[in-house]
Amino acid sequence: MKEALFYKKTENKTVECLLCPQFCKIKNNKTGFCKVRTNKNGKLYSDNYGLLCSVAFDPIEKKPLYHYFPSSNIMSIGSVGCNLHCKFCQNWEISQTSVSKYSYMEKYSISDIIFASQKKQNNIGIAYTYNEPTVFYEFMIELAEAAYKVGLKNIMVSNGFINEKPLSELLKYIDAFSIDLKAYTESFYKNYTSSNLEPVKNTLKQIRKAGKHIEITNLIIPTLNDNIEKFTEMIDWITHELGKDTILHLSRYFPRYKTNIEKTPSATIHKLYKIAKSKLNYVFIGNMHSDEGQNTVCINCNKTIIVRNGYYTSTQGIDKQGKCIYCNTKVKDLTKN
Ligand code: SF4
Repeated sequence: MKEALFYKKTENKTVECLLCPQFCKIKNNKTGFCKVRTNKNGKLYSDNYGLLCSVAFDPIEKKPLYHYFPSSNIMSIGSVGCNLHCKFCQNWEISQTSVSKYSYMEKYSISDIIFASQKKQNNIGIAYTYNEPTVFYEFMIELAEAAYKVGLKNIMVSNGFINEKPLSELLKYIDAFSIDLKAYTESFYKNYTSSNLEPVKNTLKQIRKAGKHIEITNLIIPTLNDNIEKFTEMIDWITHELGKDTILHLSRYFPRYKTNIEKTPSATIHKLYKIAKSKLNYVFIGNMHSDEGQNTVCINCNKTIIVRNGYYTSTQGIDKQGKCIYCNTKVKDLTKN
């Protein structure tokens, strides 16, 4: 446990958490909506500080990040809790629980993780992922600062539901973000995630303005967020607000947690892919077998420059400066060794 950042004391030992747009008002001995921030005698504590349930070295493509040091590894850590309650959560066993209810937690120190991260070959840094890292903010920001100081990269895989001030502090140390944009309607966010869309859009704009690497993931769920009109509106918003070089991953949904809608038909993904591809330069298909939407193609000469096959990635078509070897065009939004 560690005293939380970003909260204010109110009357009768109640506190208001200012970390995310849920703005929980938490009474003494109660816990916030995310299940991992507890009020003890008028002080707010992060329950999961340094307590991790998932630690692994993953290919960076698994985050998914396709244009950030392609073909490298990233030490990935996660804990329990989430500030959203998505009915279709693909990781609900860890996201919808608390420290006291989950038995498989292990205590880690900042130096343990830095040491392990530096030791592993082809590992570029640390990803905060698996559950929503905003809800282990205190551990994440301390670790990210320490990692930054020794030259490791920091990656946050997030639902983007975080307030502006805590995000601006994180932006000092986080190099790349994989952000879920789950749908483009307030009703979807309200009914299926217990949150709102607008703060997620603000997060994306704030990250873009800070010049950090962003890739967006949109999980397509039949009947809930596959409406063509709304999807097109979302693509237009990304294009205008974040730019046409913004990387978008369309991901296939499978029934999980409280949602038993059938898995997304591949035809739906391909149809939405074509719409997105008509406006954005880099769109990819994930979570299903597909020949389309796997490789990075040069936007100038149309040659394939990064080839992906599962988590195997070949960057043979790009040079050290991140330019296409066939026509010398810079691949926008690509960071490479
Ligand atoms: S981080 Fe948790 S406690 Fe704080 S406002 Fe968000 S859901 Fe509530």
